[in-house]
Amino acid sequence: MSKPVKHIVIVGGGSAGWITAGVIAAEHKANSSNGIRVTLVESPEIGPIGVGEGTWPTMRETLAKIGVSETDLFRQCDASFKQGAKFSPWVTGDENDYYYHPLVIPQGYTKTDLVYPWQKHRDKISFADAVSFQGHLCERHLAPKQIATPEYASVANYAYHLNAPKLGMFLRDHCIKKLGVNHLLDHVSQINSRDDGDILSVTTQSNGDIEGDLFIDCTGFASLLLGKHFEIPFISKKHILFNDTALATHVPYVEENCPIASHTISTAQTAGWIWDIGLPTRRGVGYAYASDYISHTQAEQELRQYIAKSIGHQKSEELSFKQIPIKPGHREKFWHRNCVAIGMSAGFLEPLEASALVLIELAASKISKELPANREIMDIVSKRYNEKFLYRWDRIVDFLKLHYVLSKRTDSTYWIDNCDPKTIPDSLQELISLWRYQPPSSLDFTQVDEVFPSASWQYILYGMGFQTKPRAMDRKYVDEEKAQKFFSENVEITNKYLAALPTNRELINKILEFGLQKI
Ligand SMILES: Cc1cc2nc3c(=O)[nH]c(=O)nc-3n(C[C@H](O)[C@H](O)[C@H](O)COP(=O)(O)OP(=O)(O)OC[C@H]3O[C@@H](n4cnc5c(N)ncnc54)[C@H](O)[C@@H]3O)c2cc1C
Repeated sequence: MSKPVKHIVIVGGGSAGWITAGVIAAEHKANSSNGIRVTLVESPEIGPIGVGEGTWPTMRETLAKIGVSETDLFRQCDASFKQGAKFSPWVTGDENDYYYHPLVIPQGYTKTDLVYPWQKHRDKISFADAVSFQGHLCERHLAPKQIATPEYASVANYAYHLNAPKLGMFLRDHCIKKLGVNHLLDHVSQINSRDDGDILSVTTQSNGDIEGDLFIDCTGFASLLLGKHFEIPFISKKHILFNDTALATHVPYVEENCPIASHTISTAQTAGWIWDIGLPTRRGVGYAYASDYISHTQAEQELRQYIAKSIGHQKSEELSFKQIPIKPGHREKFWHRNCVAIGMSAGFLEPLEASALVLIELAASKISKELPANREIMDIVSKRYNEKFLYRWDRIVDFLKLHYVLSKRTDSTYWIDNCDPKTIPDSLQELISLWRYQPPSSLDFTQVDEVFPSASWQYILYGMGFQTKPRAMDRKYVDEEKAQKFFSENVEITNKYLAALPTNRELINKILEFGLQKI
């Protein structure tokens, strides 16, 4: 009989390691005597990356599944609500150039397509405002729920902004105390192979050799198991997504009770973009830029200028920045023999749409659900896993690139080069050609659990001024009456929510004081 999978060894204790440990330990009852054993080894010498503050709404389901309380998340991780992203000025570079990518799907999305009816009014109202209420909530810093809305439930779909190191510690505590994960604070110095080439064990400095049946590489950029040990090649995507450096910092609020933004603010610069994430206690701000197009000194200057607008020149000058080199791309495959890489050890793409943590959640969930019973079937499971995740990485690359290719900015070579067809994947060029004659729909994306649903593609496309020419048949069959009903419904819902929802800060203060109802 083939060796059963009974012990999973995770190397790495960043967000990837702890999310994966939590998902697998909860589902496979690591805290019971007949459950799967989960051991997480984390180096005391190398800290987690400590950035990664924007999530996707899937995080609510992931946290609920592993049994953490949402109230505790707000209390321990400085969390706030995120309802989408505001991109300015990505299209023309003008002062009033912005659009929203909200997290709710357009009104009536499953019943009709509002793209054609909206296009007639595009000079008067943006696509996001015509079909969804969420941009209005964001403009007013409103929360996506009320204090009476139970944990993880919503009035408007939402994700989180949070303090990444605190999330790591929060998950670590929960995994060790509640889910039975065995934690070793130890440095892995060697990987040992079986005769057949599988990993037999990892050698640690103080705890000797740790044997396992499945090894999960969550060692971040080091990619110790999949990259260094197995030498699985890295596929660079820098020719498509140019940004290769990040400068990150924490910005204090000028007053304790400043409004907390309900969305990630993404502001285009000369050679990249600045993210701005509002937590209750501070903002997380950083510049993702392409070092081929701008010097480090110039990038630092642009970032300081951006920050000075909100906290003043002097305070901005006092801030120090952490420079993080980023290599856009991913491994040729993610699961090899009895080793699978999750998180930055598998690959990394700029954090434009917070796709890294959601990929970690999807990876952890798939491995947990399809955990091979024994070594014999592991290669079948890994083949399917690799196919699925290669598809996902490609779709994310396309989606991120879409934000650049529709830009009309010509103020720097960075923006001009980004529109060069040689830098646009064929798959994206095909989709854009198609969308000139029909709006994005679920038929364009073949997987059930797409990272970015077709609604997200619509928000970017039409937010950036794209035109879809109606086919003759569509012109005839567009049901104007039905469309007007959904537009009116959206206005009604917008007014209702604007009147009823508290601000992000008001709700967070209440959560910290009273807590949310348990589900
Ligand atoms: C600038 C920037 C901004 C980002 N913003 C976002 C965002 O907004 N949203 C989002 O979803 N993602 C974002 N990300 C990505 C996100 O931060 C990561 O995907 C996430 O933190 C997971 O990191 P990780 O756990 O893979 O790696 P890390 O956090 O680097 O953890 C690596 C772990 O491996 C361990 N390790 C390494 N070597 C050894 C060894 N020899 N022995 C034992 N242990 C070892 C270390 O101790 C550490 O615990 C961002 C990334 C960057 C760089």
